[in-house]
Amino acid sequence: MARARKQQAAKKARAARGEERLAALSAEKRSFKPPAEFRRQANCRDPKVYRRAARHPEKFWAGWARQLEWSKPSRKVLEWKAPDARWFVGGKLNASVNCLDRHVRTARRNKAALIWEGEPGDRRTYTYWDLYREVNRFANVLKRLHVRKGDRVAIYLPMIPEAAIAMLACARIGAIHSVVFGGFSAEALRDRINDAQAKVLITADGGYRRGAVLPLKQWADEALQRAPSIEKVVIVKRGGQDFPVHIKEGRDHWWHRLMQDAPAWCEPAAMDSEDILYTLYTSGTTGKPKGVVHTTAGYLVGVLATTRWVFDLKDEDVFWCTADIGWVTGHSYSVYGPLACGATTLMYEGAPDWPARDRFWELCERHGVTVFYTAPTAIRAFMKWGAEHIRRHDLSRLRLIGTVGEPINPEVWVWYHRTVGGGRCPVVDTWWQTETGHILITPLPGLTALRPGSATLPFPGISAEVVDGFGEPVKKGGGYLVLTRPWPGMLRGIWGDPARYRKQYWARFPGIYFTGDGAKRGPDGYFWLLGRVDDVLNVGGHRIGTAEVESALVHHPAVAEAAVVGVPHELKGEAIAAFVTLKDGARPYGHLGEDLKEHVVKRIGAIARPERVILAADLPKTRSGKIMRRLLRDVATGRALGDVSTLADPSVLEALKARYAEDPSA
Ligand code: ATP
Ligand code: MG
Repeated sequence: MARARKQQAAKKARAARGEERLAALSAEKRSFKPPAEFRRQANCRDPKVYRRAARHPEKFWAGWARQLEWSKPSRKVLEWKAPDARWFVGGKLNASVNCLDRHVRTARRNKAALIWEGEPGDRRTYTYWDLYREVNRFANVLKRLHVRKGDRVAIYLPMIPEAAIAMLACARIGAIHSVVFGGFSAEALRDRINDAQAKVLITADGGYRRGAVLPLKQWADEALQRAPSIEKVVIVKRGGQDFPVHIKEGRDHWWHRLMQDAPAWCEPAAMDSEDILYTLYTSGTTGKPKGVVHTTAGYLVGVLATTRWVFDLKDEDVFWCTADIGWVTGHSYSVYGPLACGATTLMYEGAPDWPARDRFWELCERHGVTVFYTAPTAIRAFMKWGAEHIRRHDLSRLRLIGTVGEPINPEVWVWYHRTVGGGRCPVVDTWWQTETGHILITPLPGLTALRPGSATLPFPGISAEVVDGFGEPVKKGGGYLVLTRPWPGMLRGIWGDPARYRKQYWARFPGIYFTGDGAKRGPDGYFWLLGRVDDVLNVGGHRIGTAEVESALVHHPAVAEAAVVGVPHELKGEAIAAFVTLKDGARPYGHLGEDLKEHVVKRIGAIARPERVILAADLPKTRSGKIMRRLLRDVATGRALGDVSTLADPSVLEALKARYAEDPSA
């Protein structure tokens, strides 16, 4: 009897700690095997690749490198002296040649390389031949503007083909491009130009967003008042005939005028494998953005391999990666990856809800998209808006769908799989960073059994681990996600700040790359991303990942999005404050907050019970759509706000502050 009581008490205590529930929630029961037809045609269907690549990673990457075109082959795959890597040592190649010239010599010459649609509905299609000519011509324009190898060129454009053309033209002559998202403010642009000391700025008079024209050139002019390194500005005419634009004589030139007499052949620069291809700033979710440096050969090898195997691209595919070209996802999977593969890539200028909430699906149907890649923030918005917008369209050509940018809540994954993917398309949840250059943790869609909410396994040749504070592998529970071996697309530094590079990524565990993300492994070795380690909650001595609590909240039928943060608590150390937004049509009611708290207790355990639930109209996000928990923490603790330069919409935060003050525990 006493023993039974004791057992029961112990069991109760365990339940109270919530560990069982945490485990149950994470180890999502459902598993989705690759459908037989998919497996049969997959680019990668040999499970032995993992073992082979693990045994001889350099040989594995060298195999991919051989698929590229080199003007001089490399003599050594890797030189590694942590934290400095040199891949494909001594090799020479050109990224634009690999994305264009080599396809132009084949039957792909007349194949669509880039299909573009503007927000107002205007369309352009560039064959490989067209794109090749445009890139060559613009490369000559840049040369005429005195851009030389190693010079930095800032690109501040809407999502128009000229953005890809400008990037590839820089690559052709060996200039380093630094793309700045077209929705960034004048100050953000100025800081990035000054950091890179860019010589030329490529921008447009304007770009369409939700029916309005954003005055890009006006913002650029503001930025240029204090960006003395810029000598020349090239302006694409996009805003329409009468859109007002100020031209500074001698400095500013119209793209179309410069292109008029530009020759259609430009000798590609023979770039060393380790010459810089581009710099790009991180999203700024956790703090001040970092100017990440990527070099030529390793990056191309990494994007080629992952595009082929993760997105399974074939010549017949139409691939749509919805990310803006201002983010690394746009670089790697709208431009370099698909073009290196000789695939067809789709680009869209505008918002997903313009003129209506079915715009993405209309695009998928019209252009016959077969592989679709987007972010959880977009999927949560689609879910919030309702499935009817999707059902109105024929998406039967879709065969594979993917996600990147944040942990995807299992509930959202299942919805995406069923509603967008029609239950037949594998979902690739891909984990990577601006710093990693290409996808690192991901399913291979022809091989991997999927679990909603898990990015599954490291790509072949990639060594990832979850470790504790001493760098020891963690078998059970959460820890720090690290990468224990160099990989080809890894960043080579932070522009102009070698000390920050070492401190940020290599100081915590010497010789091992620290990602800044928390993760845990399932019994099958699968990786579950738990959120940023800076955001981890510490309740009563238990470390809880934000993703788990948020997923429990999103599991509630009324909730569209959730973000949780820790606030100081006398007894527990930290208590959980949850900010939630509701789905369209879900009405708030008196005890909804209590219901949501109970829901979390039911899904995870008492330990994860939020102290407060704040219903919000919107959550603060970066301009790439990631939830900025650090700002929510500032709101919840009444601290002064940290760096807000990457915040998409400051009014969201103002509204939240007011809401928090008036009724902190809805
Ligand atoms: P900053 O480094 O400036 O704070 P950021 O980390 O948001 O900004 P990115 O490089 O755009 O900048 O994003 C990479 C991060 O996004 C990863 O470190 C991870 O936190 C998150 N992430 C990306 N893909 C996934 C995924 N599939 N699952 C979970 N998290 C992801
Ligand atoms: Mg980061």
